[in-house]
Amino acid sequence: MSNQSGIGRGYYEEKDFWNFTNRLLAELELHHINVEAVFFCPHHPDVDCNCRKPNTQFMEEILSEYELDLNNSWMIGDHPSDVQFGINAGLKTVYLFTGHGEKHGKELEEKEIEPTITARNFLEAAHSIKSYSEIR
Ligand SMILES: [Zn+2]
Repeated sequence: MSNQSGIGRGYYEEKDFWNFTNRLLAELELHHINVEAVFFCPHHPDVDCNCRKPNTQFMEEILSEYELDLNNSWMIGDHPSDVQFGINAGLKTVYLFTGHGEKHGKELEEKEIEPTITARNFLEAAHSIKSYSEIR
């Protein structure tokens, strides 16, 4: 799930997004990681759409298509709007302090957005989610 306002801003086109995304998915597949679906908001932030995170339109679409156990579902992201999306959607959340996440980390406190857990990268997030689930 991705905010791609670069499309709405005219920086690149939807086909460029798919070129990148399809290469990423192919690379992940080589490592036996299968992505079930891709959702992206192409709109400019000023458009005020319902699909730009932290709005939850995509979550409603996901819930209408898939049976999810929300109590055991996690939103992992490196932007405060990802965590806010997870909270809005009733998910547990991980904030990743990767490069991008490091840059925006202060906004978590400023906007009083509290992730369930934080991690330095995806691997750490996976381990933390596993232990979080085992404890509870
Ligand atoms: Zn949108």
